[in-house]
Amino acid sequence: MVTGIFLLIAALFPIQRLIRQLPEGASLKPKWQVLNGLIIFFIIGYAAYTIANWQKEISSADLVVPALFFGGAVFVLLVGRLAYQTASDMKKMALLECENITDPLIGIYNRRYLDRILVEEIKRAHRYGSDLSILLLDVDFFKKINDTYGHSTGDIVLKQLGQIILDEVRETDMVARYGGEEIAIIFPETPVSKALSLAERLRRQVARADFVPPDIHSDREISLTISIGVAGLDDETTSASLLLEKADKALYAAKQAGRNRVVAWQEFMGPSSPNS
Ligand code: GH3
Ligand code: MG
Ligand code: MG
Repeated sequence: MVTGIFLLIAALFPIQRLIRQLPEGASLKPKWQVLNGLIIFFIIGYAAYTIANWQKEISSADLVVPALFFGGAVFVLLVGRLAYQTASDMKKMALLECENITDPLIGIYNRRYLDRILVEEIKRAHRYGSDLSILLLDVDFFKKINDTYGHSTGDIVLKQLGQIILDEVRETDMVARYGGEEIAIIFPETPVSKALSLAERLRRQVARADFVPPDIHSDREISLTISIGVAGLDDETTSASLLLEKADKALYAAKQAGRNRVVAWQEFMGPSSPNS
């Protein structure tokens, strides 16, 4: 019985560690707190039973109850440790998954995730007949920023740009690094006309912003502009690569037209095929 009490006390440690890890307000937390209280109740029960039967003459048949108590304590300890271990492993897996889909510099999704999610979103939009638009943006003359202020300042400017974009878009929009200083945004359930006005708002916001270099020797704030290409899903755009290609052509047109502007993909920008 005494060993059982110690086992139950040992079970409290992993369970309390688990409770501490659970976020405030999670519905699981009070349930684990109830379980924690039950174990304390059992400890008191075990102790009361031990005191009540202390120094009593007992036959071997009487040992059945303490044996069951002992088995119960082992069970509670194993469950407590397993629950804590499972929660820790799942937390590690979630962290790994997050690192796997995040761009480490800007903190937005990476290209791998963009490719995966775009295919899924296109399937969903076709199935439900909903709109879907994509935006591709590229910083204008970014090489000049690197050349003037250095690559690490360029990195910080990219981070600040990422933050401006995240502040501007809705939670349901997916912002991903397309490559280098190019960023893609998927707008689910959004027609091209709406995506165009979101793109224009973003373009203006970036042009207005002051990017602050960390370099104390530089008292100048950096300004920059972005060019944006927008394309929407339609009946002929059946794949993610076609949609991206259309947005890319629109972006190229924005650059050709003088930069710092938004252009939507149009038929005249050329027939698109997966091989072109
Ligand atoms: P434009 O797009 O207007 O034609 O001119 P640009 O100067 O931006 O053109 P380009 O695409 O040729 O240059 C992009 C530059 O972005 C080149 C590359 O060194 C820089 N770049 C790409 N990724 C990063 C990065 O992660 N950090 C920094 N600091 N620079 C990067
Ligand atoms: Mg550029
Ligand atoms: Mg570029």
